[in-house]
Amino acid sequence: MIEVDGLTKRYGRTVAVDDLTFRVEPGRVTGFLGPNGAGKSTTMRMVLGLDRPSAGRVLVDGRPYAELTDPLRRVGALLEARAVHGGRRADHHLLWLAQTNRIPKSRVGEVLELVGLAGVARKRVRTFSLGMHQRLGIAAALLGDPGVLLFDEPVNGLDPEGIVWLRTLLKGFAAQGRTVLVSSHLMSEMALTAEHLVVIGRGRLLADTTVADFIAGNSRSYVRITTPDPARLSAVFAAEGIQVTDIEGGALAAHGVDPARAGELVAAHGLVVHEMALRQASLEEAFVRMTASAVEFREGE
Ligand code: ADP
Repeated sequence: MIEVDGLTKRYGRTVAVDDLTFRVEPGRVTGFLGPNGAGKSTTMRMVLGLDRPSAGRVLVDGRPYAELTDPLRRVGALLEARAVHGGRRADHHLLWLAQTNRIPKSRVGEVLELVGLAGVARKRVRTFSLGMHQRLGIAAALLGDPGVLLFDEPVNGLDPEGIVWLRTLLKGFAAQGRTVLVSSHLMSEMALTAEHLVVIGRGRLLADTTVADFIAGNSRSYVRITTPDPARLSAVFAAEGIQVTDIEGGALAAHGVDPARAGELVAAHGLVVHEMALRQASLEEAFVRMTASAVEFREGE
């Protein structure tokens, strides 16, 4: 498990990570969510001991990363996809990593198979697409068969098929009891992959919750109504204190009312309605709303 405790990182006057405290538990995928520049990469670099905290600490399996014996067998990480020298072959790159970390050679073939690169194992990395780079980075992370996995925006560069593949892979690792932390700036992706969410904005913790609770607490619902007389319907609803706004397709959205109450009002006033249904505001909207104040504050600096 990963324990982040009062973690802070300053670069000059920029506070990249601001007093973050959270835990990443084994057995589930934890989504690390925040807009670009929120501090996700900086936090992950500190987990891996690549950046020194200005304050606070982070422990992996109860110890700072630097004190782990055989770190590659404990923690696998995908940070920058293009960190591999272009002239190197995919299999040689992994072999070198294995040999310098006392990992058996046989793992190289296994992880290449696992990420779907077995067929291009002998190709030079410079010929790889961004998606293939991502797969090679994931192979390297898996080499030591670690119990803790960190992935920074792993979906970048993957095609839709690759995204589904990665989602299945990550869930599988969690199901095996591993600790899996995956960052993304896309709520929609995390909703499909993660069970738990840690949301940050401007370096600060905004939410530490299950995906289900995030959805229940943040997705505002409304009743979508189409009618040939929107002006009259709006007036009737407004008189009852119900806010009505125009939405796409010439439809109306009635806020803070359930479909039953909306239907009763429609009947009581003899309004004609063509369609009426309960809709959920998207998770992406909820995430943007949650992080908006943090983002605005940054832009105002
Ligand atoms: P994210 O991964 O969420 O997009 P980052 O951790 O990359 O966010 O960045 C957080 C903030 O810290 C940004 O404002 C970024 O410009 C700043 N930052 C990150 N790394 C450095 C660095 N090495 N030097 C100076 N500022 C940095």
